[in-house]
Amino acid sequence: MPAPRQPIEIREFPRPDLAPGAALLRTRRSEVCGTDVHLWHGRLSGVPYPIIPGHVSAGVLDSIHGPIAGLDGAELREGDRAVFFDVHRTCGQCRACTVHRTPTRCPSRRVYGITDSAAEGLYGGWAQHIYLEPGVGIARLPDAVSVEDYIGGGCGLLTAVHIRERAAIAPGDSVLVQGVGAVGLCAIALCRIAGASSIFAIGDPAPRLELARRMGADHALSLAGTTVSERLQMVRDLTNGEGVDVVIEAAGSARAVEEGVTLVRDGGRYVIAGHYTDVGPSSINAHHHINRKHLEIRGCWGSESRHFLEAIQILEEHGSVPWRDIGARTYPLSALNEALADAEAMRITKALVDPWAG
Ligand SMILES: [Zn+2]
Ligand SMILES: [Zn+2]
Repeated sequence: MPAPRQPIEIREFPRPDLAPGAALLRTRRSEVCGTDVHLWHGRLSGVPYPIIPGHVSAGVLDSIHGPIAGLDGAELREGDRAVFFDVHRTCGQCRACTVHRTPTRCPSRRVYGITDSAAEGLYGGWAQHIYLEPGVGIARLPDAVSVEDYIGGGCGLLTAVHIRERAAIAPGDSVLVQGVGAVGLCAIALCRIAGASSIFAIGDPAPRLELARRMGADHALSLAGTTVSERLQMVRDLTNGEGVDVVIEAAGSARAVEEGVTLVRDGGRYVIAGHYTDVGPSSINAHHHINRKHLEIRGCWGSESRHFLEAIQILEEHGSVPWRDIGARTYPLSALNEALADAEAMRITKALVDPWAG
């Protein structure tokens, strides 16, 4: 991706020399997520274009300058099916890392495919190989987890694992998820696994609402097909007139936040996770919606390596969830402009990338 709004170009890179502790991953699949569309629109600050997008990816370890161990402590071997945590260079020494224990706010943190420049090498998944520099968290993909299920969950699943933690979902909670993109769909599945009693979803288009039901939503409401007051009425009717215990915002819309504070019950929780870019201010009445309501609002930014490992464990234990169905269509490198256009127009839930496809 040479620059925002420019067509994707295919470039050749030399095979990298592996520093001690580094590995080269032969890419099987990467993805086109909402963030990649934002990158293409130039909506994220501090991005060192040109970049090789594709932060969450899966492949096979092609070569290793070892020995190196996976995040589980076991030694990794060439030929292992492997995945890696896209966030790297979190310093472990700054105030965010140590005093506040919020490593996702570490200023040194870098992310494959987003804040790593192509000028430095193969730091992104829209490539046939990915350079895993020393210190990157790598995990062997368990035999029970297919590449298709891993990448179907993808970065949305990692984000959703962190959301579920921030939302502190307890068995019996009623939950409403705003947005049925990859993050919202994965959040629905995780709330179901966590024992939520009833799960509402709001979004569009119809195929995503259908997938939301298969991921575990009890009530999937069309954003365009219902009004704000109709949705409020429906949610109240099904929650003893109170509203849900927890609302999760995964819509990335300023209007969603204005609605979310009305759908949650008094004393409930609201987790904001969809505002990865600045979509402008939301208008909230602090008296009605926060103070008097005794509402708890929590932001959720990025994910940590433990969320990455938990995501793999969830995929291993919950193979009946249709994770792979989030990945709607697979594109070769030569069709990435089309993939971005399809993702931008929301024609498909998630585009996947197979850099070896012809
Ligand atoms: Zn730090
Ligand atoms: Zn992503």
